[in-house]
Amino acid sequence: MEYVTLNNGVKMPVLGYGVYKISSRDCVECVQNAVRVGYRLIDTAQIYDNEEAVGTAVRKSGVPRHDFFLTTKIWLTNDRYKTAAASIEQSLRKLQTDYIDLLLIHQPKRRDYHEIYPAMEVAYKAGKVRAIGVSNFYRDRFEDLTRSCEIMPAVNQMEMHVFQQQKSLHEFLKGCGTQIEAWAPFAEGRRNYFQNPVLTGIGAKYQKTAAQTALRFLFQQGAVSIPKTVHWEQMQENFNIFDFSLSHEDCVQIEQLDEGQTLYASQMHNESGTWLRANPDTLEVF
Ligand code: NAP
Repeated sequence: MEYVTLNNGVKMPVLGYGVYKISSRDCVECVQNAVRVGYRLIDTAQIYDNEEAVGTAVRKSGVPRHDFFLTTKIWLTNDRYKTAAASIEQSLRKLQTDYIDLLLIHQPKRRDYHEIYPAMEVAYKAGKVRAIGVSNFYRDRFEDLTRSCEIMPAVNQMEMHVFQQQKSLHEFLKGCGTQIEAWAPFAEGRRNYFQNPVLTGIGAKYQKTAAQTALRFLFQQGAVSIPKTVHWEQMQENFNIFDFSLSHEDCVQIEQLDEGQTLYASQMHNESGTWLRANPDTLEVF
């Protein structure tokens, strides 16, 4: 496994396993399988309702805790200093661990992150969290937060895939020393992702699939990726991206797939979307 070094010196695997939409019933077995394949970064969230299953799989794996990199995210409803702090304690209990490797704000809502982030900074200083960061913070929110925070976010987890490459945000984050992490690195299969002719064509040169080509591309761009699958073969497929290299010409071709906008407008239906729709002047997220 390759690692990136975060702005506080903590090492983070460049490839992980995401557990969004995996029921708590299936999640223990899925994570156990992912660990057998070699994944050590596991990406969950309070809202996924499977932190406990992730904790159980990690505990039962036989792999030392310090080999894992566990990420969870504070959900929108824990939007006050006190509720955010309490939710961190609850995540620790559910994950059955005394520290979280990376704790993120799941997404911005109003300016509540000014309440949530200080609770995360306190947990960080207390050693309950090894790194803190954000998710779904476009540049305006990121700058607003970082104008007042004490500890710079180590990571910003964003929608990022070949159709939404986040080029300008990525450049900006690099300048801040914040690592970009790609959620939905396959756009959940949207746009016929796994049959995309550019990805399958380039992949064929290296005996690789579209999925492997896309993950390799994100890796070569400097992003951490957290693909999700419930299938053993696909877990292996997605993990095997370190034995080939895309050429400059391959990357230029894949860069042309970028549409420069979200494929997730449906996220506007969620709670923060309601607020964002009512405040269109601040609408840069989604
Ligand atoms: P994704 O990883 O882009 O795509 C998952 C879909 O691709 C599933 O339908 C999966 O199928 C399929 N798939 C995976 N590998 C495949 C392969 N090799 N060949 C063919 N199909 C394959 O989508 P995601 O789960 O939304 O995103 C990944 C992770 O990012 C999540 O699990 C979560 O941890 C995180 N995330 C974070 C946010 C945020 O707001 N911070 C938002 C979304 C996601 P099967 O499952 O049927 O195997």
